[in-house]
Amino acid sequence: SKAKVFDENTKVRTSFKDVAGLEGAKEEVQEIVDFLKNPDKYTALGGKIPKGALLVGPPGTGKTLLAKAVAGESGVPFFSLSGSDFVEMFVGVGASRVRDLFKQAAAKSPSIIFIDEIDAIGRARGKNSITGGNDERENTLNQLLTEMDGFGTDVNVIVIGATNRADVLDKALLRAGRFDRQIYVDLPDKNERRQIFDVHVKPLKLAKDVDLDFLSKQTPGFSGADIANVCNESALVAARKSKKSVHHQDFLDAVDRIVGGLEKKNKIIT
Ligand code: ATP
Repeated sequence: SKAKVFDENTKVRTSFKDVAGLEGAKEEVQEIVDFLKNPDKYTALGGKIPKGALLVGPPGTGKTLLAKAVAGESGVPFFSLSGSDFVEMFVGVGASRVRDLFKQAAAKSPSIIFIDEIDAIGRARGKNSITGGNDERENTLNQLLTEMDGFGTDVNVIVIGATNRADVLDKALLRAGRFDRQIYVDLPDKNERRQIFDVHVKPLKLAKDVDLDFLSKQTPGFSGADIANVCNESALVAARKSKKSVHHQDFLDAVDRIVGGLEKKNKIIT
């Protein structure tokens, strides 16, 4: 049986309410929701609905979450795969996976295809002579371009790509009619961090002394994923001490742990 590299989620429950901050990005993707819900409004005037949009930003800032929310808000199925899944694939498999995915998405039109880490597939071609080239990746990229060009006007599939390296992408991907829209998904500022805390403390039993404004101030550079991590970790710290609720100090301990983890990660890079 074929291994599945993508998930199809026919009933996506994620909505814009789950995405804290990112007001600009949400406004921009609202247009995609409208394309998926009311295609006739656009095609009636002779316009062509765009096929792709690229979410660009640092890791953990909510790109996947936002793409899922577009599917949830539009009420359409969400097909996803990650570019890194393709890196180790045998010859010919990557391209056929892409073909399969687009076929399935077209059969469920209107629908969304989400490609995380699209740079793993979409790196500029012919520039990896050091590693001796990677024909398989190029085949996969070519198939992706072919599929995006091949959509007829009868199918309404929008491909959302995500990357933190838009600069390395093959220019062919960014051409009109492909990923011609770039939407920036940045690290949150203090107010946005507060909103992200609000989302992620919801499942926690909070003690009265927890000061989320203070924590939002003390976490510059944290991504949404880091904050989600802090919230979860704080509950584990409190539980380990057999507390009945999560206190401010547990959050501070959790922040220290996450900062420690981030520092380690950075040390490996530099
Ligand atoms: P990567 O580039 O590493 O794939 P990403 O940008 O796709 O990261 P997500 O996978 O969407 O990031 O985020 C990971 C998790 O972090 C989310 O499932 C969510 O719990 C939390 N998160 C990130 N950003 C936000 C946000 N703006 N609002 C609420 N939660 C967030």
